Amino acid sequence: MEKYLLYINGEFRESSDGGTFKAINPANGDIIAEISKATIDDTQKAIDAARKAFDSGIWSDLPGEERSRIIKQIVDKINENAKRLTLLEVTDSGSTIKKAGEDVFLSAKSLNHYSKMALLNLDEEVEGLSKPGVSKNIVKRDPIGVCGLITPWNFPLKMAIWKLGPALAAGCTVILKPAMETSVTAMELARMISETDMPKGVVNIICGEGSKIGTELALSPKVDKIAFTGSTEVGKIIMKNASADLKKLTLECGGKSANIVLDDADIDMAVDGAIYAGFYHQGQCCEGGTRLLVHEKIYDEFAEKLKAKIMKMKIGDPMDKTTDVGPIVNESQFNSVMGYINTGKEEGAEILVGGNRFGETGYYIEPTVFFNATNDMKISQEEIFGPIVTMIKFKDDDDAVRIANDSIYGLGGAVWSGNDERALKLAERLRTGTVWINEYHLLSDRAPFGGYKQSGIGREFGIDGLKEYTEAKHIHIDEIKDRSKKTWYGTVVPKD
Ligand code: NAP
Ligand code: MG
Repeated sequence: MEKYLLYINGEFRESSDGGTFKAINPANGDIIAEISKATIDDTQKAIDAARKAFDSGIWSDLPGEERSRIIKQIVDKINENAKRLTLLEVTDSGSTIKKAGEDVFLSAKSLNHYSKMALLNLDEEVEGLSKPGVSKNIVKRDPIGVCGLITPWNFPLKMAIWKLGPALAAGCTVILKPAMETSVTAMELARMISETDMPKGVVNIICGEGSKIGTELALSPKVDKIAFTGSTEVGKIIMKNASADLKKLTLECGGKSANIVLDDADIDMAVDGAIYAGFYHQGQCCEGGTRLLVHEKIYDEFAEKLKAKIMKMKIGDPMDKTTDVGPIVNESQFNSVMGYINTGKEEGAEILVGGNRFGETGYYIEPTVFFNATNDMKISQEEIFGPIVTMIKFKDDDDAVRIANDSIYGLGGAVWSGNDERALKLAERLRTGTVWINEYHLLSDRAPFGGYKQSGIGREFGIDGLKEYTEAKHIHIDEIKDRSKKTWYGTVVPKD
């Protein structure tokens, strides 16, 4: 069995009290690895290492070309180890092999994009308050400093890269804390990074309980920023803790996105799209299309076709390349999702398809659709994070917008229509960070991703995402060399 140690200041170490935890395969309960569990003391050591590395300029002062070269070395390592990483992602998280393979591929691709972003000079010259020629005004982008990166279990490697990439490109140093549920590929990343030219202390990776070591990261005055992806509930706790020293924050939290099917949509394509939106990775996706809003004219026909397609989905061994639906990540998530199936029934929604546990070993749940649900039900308002979709009827475009926006979340969503102009008009009215038209889930390294409302604060990806790891600094250089020609600001009085 693999044993993973904490990665602090370029060295692999046992935790200070020798504590460990086990990585478990949710498809069969097998123990796949033992991982050192960081204490508060270990966390402080990791923070000190990142602080020292940042303050020394060993990373931030390197030319962009050199930072880019070293980030690219990590990309190459991920590509060389793609198969191993994919298999570990499957056994640690219950991802189907199709999804895990794509996650590893996209992790390398995103990190490669960030290696190029390290070359960007974001500094710009702007006009000053006075006439041109009086001053030169430069806006510089400094790395924000030491970043605590806290990630969830649903896309383990990908979430780590989404944060590590821009942080390193911007010149920051980091402490990465993956979810305990899925720490294995982050520790593989530590091993790979240790084989590159990355200076010691720039990247530290520690595993352990979020409520303890994550809290330490959020509270520590030596940490300049927390970048978090996870539940809205924990996001709020982090925000509270980080307020002690007004730490900078980006939070990517929960969602309850509306997947809207208009009456002019290609129904067969929209049915496939609804399955992809709602059941990809067993519905354990923050941006998933969990509220399926279907126009009343096509509601029954859509439901019939959806049911027929879902009944053909293959549930089972995530290692099997033909599997569509793998297990839920762990027992407590399994129980929580099954609880929501009961809630939906109690609230009066009907089950169109699914609604049961699948098999007796592993935490499998059938893809489930609630029919004739309303938007005020708990199953329409709360994030379930499992293979559950609620089907809600709407009358017209205004009604669809009203229902879609009636949510505390605003992360994703889609419009399915044969009329791009109509779909775009509707998309523009949705209070959400990403809208797909006749598509779902696809993100771009070049476009910002993040949430309105309680789905989060800040953005990942694109220039916006990179800037989240910088502080803006305005330098005003006065260009009047002759003191007698200088007028001081604050001398304009209104005319009578
Ligand atoms: P979670 O319970 O919020 O945990 C996320 C991370 O935060 C884990 O590493 C966790 O550590 C850590 N943590 C827990 N308590 C903490 C605290 N008090 N202080 C600091 N860190 C703490 O979320 P999850 O169950 O792993 O993931 C599912 C959630 O993530 C869903 O709500 C989903 O919508 C959201 N998500 C959002 C996005 C997005 O981009 N918006 C993407 C993916 C997932 P341990 O669990 O290891 O103790
Ligand atoms: Mg696991």
